[in-house]
Amino acid sequence: MKKIPFVTNRQVQEIIRQFPTPFHLYDEKGIRANAQAVRDAFAWNKGYKEYFAVKAEPNPFIIQILKEYGCGCDCSSLTELMLSDASGVVGENIMFSSNNTPAEEFQAAAKLGAIINLDDITHIDFLEQAIGYIPETISCRYNPGGVYAISNGIMDNPGDAKYGFTKAQLFEGYRALKEKGAKRFGLHSFLVSNTVTNDYYPALAKTLFELAVEIKQELGIAVSFINLSGGVGIAYRPDEVPNDIIAIGEGVHKVFDEVLVPAGLGNTAIYTEMGRFMTGPYGCLVTTAVHEKHTYKDYIGVDACAANLMRPAMYGAYHHITVMGKEDAACSHKYDIVGSLCENNDKFAVDRMLPEIAVGDVLVIHDTGAHGFAMGYNYNGRLWSAEVLLKADGTPQLIRRAQTPQDYFATLDCFGLPFRTELGATPKNS
Ligand SMILES: *Cc1c(COP(=O)(O)O)cnc(C)c1O
Repeated sequence: MKKIPFVTNRQVQEIIRQFPTPFHLYDEKGIRANAQAVRDAFAWNKGYKEYFAVKAEPNPFIIQILKEYGCGCDCSSLTELMLSDASGVVGENIMFSSNNTPAEEFQAAAKLGAIINLDDITHIDFLEQAIGYIPETISCRYNPGGVYAISNGIMDNPGDAKYGFTKAQLFEGYRALKEKGAKRFGLHSFLVSNTVTNDYYPALAKTLFELAVEIKQELGIAVSFINLSGGVGIAYRPDEVPNDIIAIGEGVHKVFDEVLVPAGLGNTAIYTEMGRFMTGPYGCLVTTAVHEKHTYKDYIGVDACAANLMRPAMYGAYHHITVMGKEDAACSHKYDIVGSLCENNDKFAVDRMLPEIAVGDVLVIHDTGAHGFAMGYNYNGRLWSAEVLLKADGTPQLIRRAQTPQDYFATLDCFGLPFRTELGATPKNS
């Protein structure tokens, strides 16, 4: 399928006049339509709730849009908890799914009344020590080990993953939690990232639903909710078929009716913690070509770099690129599209066939709405870009300003170093 940016060339040129590149741009209309589709897909389940994985796109403006569709927040750190709180998402609208958790973070989660999803059996005692009690509502993360395969083959290797309880630990854990006063139990598992198939959630649901039946039979505990977590992917490549969330919801519904209902567990709420699927396709990185270089290969240097979008450098991930204004031109040139980091993996695309690019052309790097800006870092002293929301009415709104050198040096402020502001402490994005 041809990938078309959610923004037109005319719109993007107008936005650039107000907000210089590079910046991440988000599509409010797309986020809203998708959030509604997710809600519709699971409307058959009375207790359904999506806890947006805020690590994917930790911006309160985005969180508040999703909140209108009933979404809570899935957090895994103190600052993510603070972000959720500041966005008006508190209490059991927060799922605290963390691992290797410090005591202070359990304390903050408890203070907010978040649902705590334990990653390990030792965390039962650790949590009790940290907060002084075991909450009435508590969840455990399951790791089945081995390799995880569904009909279209091996998907991932949970046996190698650091997360979750083994099956034996899970039974022991629920027993201990019950003894310590827990009353409502949740079951969670996250086995595979970025699945582009409608079969992953239903297959995971079957695994967890059957486990819930066993838990009921063995321990007399009827789990209150089953959390399918994240992992629903998006079509980064033009040749991939995007997931159909309605089909996914129906697939989970079918297994629910087959496994949970006959076991007397028909009141179980289904939770999800999607990040990528909620915002991924509704964000893009807008950047300008600033140099061309012809050596052993042809390079286009842009004003964004891996510090603004790490996925290609870190995972070799594909992100589609559109040269704005040349949407229909022939892809006649083979380029590496590169940033300015002193790291040879700082390449948004390698050997990519694109229309001929001139310095000054604007490039849209697709599907950066999740795990894009969020994974930013400051290597080489590169600063975070701004984030701009393309509102449903077509106007742009700044939802995070770009980082400045002052921000970068803030952690050195107290040492009184003589930084000279006339060297350009006011960057172009401020
Ligand atoms: C990362 C993460 C998610 C979200 O994953 P996506 O692939 O973005 O949907 C959900 N839950 C937990 C515990 C995670 O670590």
